[in-house]
Formats: sequence, structure tokens, C-alpha cells
Amino acid sequence: MEIESNFIKTIMEDDLNNNKVDKIITRFPPEPNAYLHIGHARAIITNFELAKIFDGYTNLRFDDTNPVKEDSSFVEAIKKDIEWLGYNPKNVLFGSDYFDQTYDLAVKLIKKGLAYVCDLNQDEMRAYRGTLKEPGKESPNRNRTIEENLRLFEEMKNGKYKDGEKTLRAKIDMASPNMNMRDPVIYRIIHIEHHNTGNKWCIYPMYDFAHPLQDAIEGVTHSLCSLEYDDHRVLYDWVVEKCEMPHIPHQYEFGRLNITNTIMSKRYLKQLVESKLVKGYDDPRMPTLTGLRRRGYTKESIKNFVLGTGLSRINSTVSSEMLETSLRNDLNYKVKRVNAVIDPLKVIITNYPDNKIEWIDVEYSRDNEDLGTRKIAFGRNVYIEKSDFLEVKPNKKWKRLSLGIEVRLMHAYFIKCNEVIKDNDGNIVELLCTYDEATKSGSGFKDRKPNGNIHFVEASTAKKSRFNLFEPLMIDSDSKRDMKERLNPNSWKEFKGFVESDLENTHSLERFQFIRNGYFATDYDSTKDLLIFNRICELRSSFK
Ligand code: ATP
Ligand code: MG
Repeated sequence: MEIESNFIKTIMEDDLNNNKVDKIITRFPPEPNAYLHIGHARAIITNFELAKIFDGYTNLRFDDTNPVKEDSSFVEAIKKDIEWLGYNPKNVLFGSDYFDQTYDLAVKLIKKGLAYVCDLNQDEMRAYRGTLKEPGKESPNRNRTIEENLRLFEEMKNGKYKDGEKTLRAKIDMASPNMNMRDPVIYRIIHIEHHNTGNKWCIYPMYDFAHPLQDAIEGVTHSLCSLEYDDHRVLYDWVVEKCEMPHIPHQYEFGRLNITNTIMSKRYLKQLVESKLVKGYDDPRMPTLTGLRRRGYTKESIKNFVLGTGLSRINSTVSSEMLETSLRNDLNYKVKRVNAVIDPLKVIITNYPDNKIEWIDVEYSRDNEDLGTRKIAFGRNVYIEKSDFLEVKPNKKWKRLSLGIEVRLMHAYFIKCNEVIKDNDGNIVELLCTYDEATKSGSGFKDRKPNGNIHFVEASTAKKSRFNLFEPLMIDSDSKRDMKERLNPNSWKEFKGFVESDLENTHSLERFQFIRNGYFATDYDSTKDLLIFNRICELRSSFK
């Protein structure tokens, strides 16, 4: 799937046609303070795909100007996710690579009379800022001389002041209708070790100052970001202009991607992990890229999903069903269709010889011959799903096994249930059945019509397995409600069961269709003794 026409693509085309730019250069600028989620995939895919169709390139730049929350473990995780999606950044860069240049440019602004050191603390600054209806008030430090500002800023850099004691502010317009232009802070003091620059700096540039400069230094032509930066654009342009950057980048905003019943906020995802409400960032229920990967989503399904949502200048919320549909479309023809019994019930075929095992040739997929065939076992003891048996046939629609009724075991024989064995509490523990040799699948037998077709695995060759079945992590999309109340108590259910012997050597993230049960992927924790499978999604939408 290719990226469709959208407003940014049109802008790029025009810019190339009018010789405003001669190459499209974009960047993806994550802050290394959390793991990427599926919303970020929109930003990644948009940046990389657009540059690609115009033969341009994309940088990965870590926006690491706030050392308080950032950490190199996130850097590695983010790199891995981008690589997994299939993208190769032209350069991997860090905002902190430019701290020297950014500092010099701040000095330049001071020298031009366009920045000053301010003594107001956070509360005072807020009070001075005014409101959307009222203009702000000028800081008492606004008219410090250039010399004094230069001296104070250098002292800030040299560690003379405590966190928050002073800031450097751009001198713009305290009456601007755009709050971002009311003398925004461009440097702040933070005495903390930085993951890249260590203790070299104790002052750090703010995003609104650093970001446009980084774009300009790297020669980025189209700086794409989500819609909430819309009213930062004037400041972005102001910084580039006043710092007299030789290359002038431009910012364009697109709508954020939201998905129903899915948390798309780094802060909440972090909270889920830290309060141990999930098993980590790669919990298969998490909408993080690492979680979706573990769940079994393919990069193609994510890419097609994101591209299918289009790109516009409004935030959009799409149904989580769309992502599942994308996965089904991707895997339907690609993967082997095999047998797994998720909640097993033992069946003994009393008229089948005791030590005999038959191996039946079965194709992996009716719809894709290229996948080839394997052999499935049949014998005296088999497992079927508990849900495929009811002692008394409840109605005509019941196309499964019941007492006195005959069904086909897929690819094998008709079996008829003659007796139900129960424990002392009345729970069904075993079924005694008989098979009819004449009914072997493929033999052309047409004399009787079975009451349905159910799948099975032969007991002595079956591999012990655990199946993780998921529901959405959140029960609603109402982000105003408390997160804990919104958690779905049924989001993770485990079942013990068996898969056919062919899956013995499955490897991590191998994907299958388990007949009648859904698409599954082998989990990282799967071992030879206990295979573990995550259900990616059901075979059909269960959407009501
Ligand atoms: P925060 O503001 O809490 O740091 P963020 O989601 O903005 O979170 P960044 O690391 O700054 O995180 O995001 C990198 C890029 O991904 C940004 O350009 C941002 O606009 C984009 N992005 C993040 N979430 C979405 C989303 N849901 N849809 C589209 N783009 C997104
Ligand atoms: Mg951000």
C-alpha cells in the first residue's frame, strides 16, 4: 500500500514544482521518555513514506532537551520499533547534539535585544502571562541591558543559580493574542545529569526554541507534527527568522490518530506499566508498538491500517476493528491453518485399536497451495473443545457433538458419542465414542450427513500449550474517567490446551490461523515443554 494523496503531499509537490525546495527532507522527533505507540506510527509512516515517494529522506532525531524524564533505554526501544516498521533513518541524531549551537544562538538573540534573563518564578510568570482575553504584564526584568543579560545567562550556564531561579525568555509581545508569543521561556535551569551530555549542561533549551533550530540545522524542509502545535508555528517561524538561520524549514500540522478503547497517551501507558496493571511495555494488550509486535501484529498490518486512515488536518478516532481487519487481510492467505484445542475435552474412541496412530496428509491452507501439507495424527484418544459438546442437542442449529449424535472430526472420521463420563461433581470429564472406518475423509463416503464438522488433536502426539486470549484493555473510550475504573477485568484470559504435533518447533512470533479459533502468534516465553500462543484476533469481527 502506498500513501494516498493528502494535503501535505500536495504541498510537497508544489514546493518541488516551484523550486522552493530541491529535495524533501523530513524528520521523526520522538522524545525518549516512553515507548512508541500506534499513534506514533502515523507520524513515523507519514514522515518516511512522504520523503520516500519524492526520493528524499528522513532523519530520526531524539528530542532530548528535557533530561528529567529521558533515558537511553527509551532511545534503544524507539530505534528498534522504527526498524521493525521497516524504516531506515538517513541519520540518527539527538537534539542534545546541538546544545552548543543552540546556546550560541540564544546569545545571538540576547545581543540583538531579543532575549532577556528573567527572575520571575513559575507562579509569577503565570500571573504575568495574562489570559486569552487579557494581555499579559511585562516582567520587571524585561528591560535589562544586553550586557547584564549576557553576564546572567553565562552565570546560568556556569551553574550559579538553582533550578527555576532564572530563565531566559524571548522578548516578543506580552499583548499577543497568541499566548505562545508572550515572551516564552527559551532556556531553563535543570541541575540533572543528561543521558547524552552528562553534567556538561545545567541549562536546557525549551522545545519551542530547540526544535525549529534543529530542523534548520539539519536542512529539514517539511517539519510535520500533530495538530496541537498549530499555535506554536508563529513562534517556530520567529525563532528561525530571528536566529537568521540560513536554511528555513516549515512546520505543517496533521490530525492525531486515536483508536476506540485504546489509550494513546504516553503518560497513561507509563502509569499502567509503573503501577503494574500490565506486565510491561510489551504486554500484548498494550497499544505500544512493542506490545502489538508481541501480540503478533505484522508491520504490514500496522502500515496498511495507518495508511488506510488517511491524513487530514483534523484529529480522528477510528474503530479498533479496523486494525484487526487489517491483520486478517494480511494473514488470511499467508499463514498455515492448523489445529489447536483451547479448552480440551478428552474423547476415547473405543473401537479404535489401542496402540495405533494414523498419519493423515492435510494441506496447510485450502486457499494457498504454496504453503504445502503436513501430517496430522489420529488415534484412540483425541481432544476436542469443551464447547463442541453438549450432552443434549439443544436445537436444530447445534452443529456439534451430543450424546447419540454423529459428527465428523475434520480430515478424519465420523464419530458418534455413546457415553458421557462425569466426576463426582457432575462435571463431564470424558466422552466414549465410536468411529466408522468407512467414513474416512477423502474416501468419497456420502451415505450419511454428520451433524457438523469439528476439529481435534490426537492426544498422545499433541503438544501441551497455553493460550492467552485478550479483550480490550479499556472498557470505554472516556478518557475523563479514572484509569483504574476503566480497566477491563477480562482483558487477559489464559487457557490450557493442546496443539497438533506439527507445531513442536514453532519459533517466537510465528503466526498461525488456529482453525475456528482465530489468528495466533507464538509468544517469546514459549518453550518446548509448554508452547505459549497469543491470540492476535478472532477470525471474524465480533463487533456488535
Ligand atoms: P508527549 O507530548 O507526552 O511527549 P507525544 O505523543 O507528543 O507525547 P513525542 O515523542 O513528542 O510524543 O511524539 C513524537 C511525534 O509523534 C510527535 O511529532 C507527535 O506529534 C507524534 N504523535 C504522537 N502521538 C500521535 C498520534 N496519536 N497521532 C499522530 N501523531 C502522533
Ligand atoms: Mg510531544
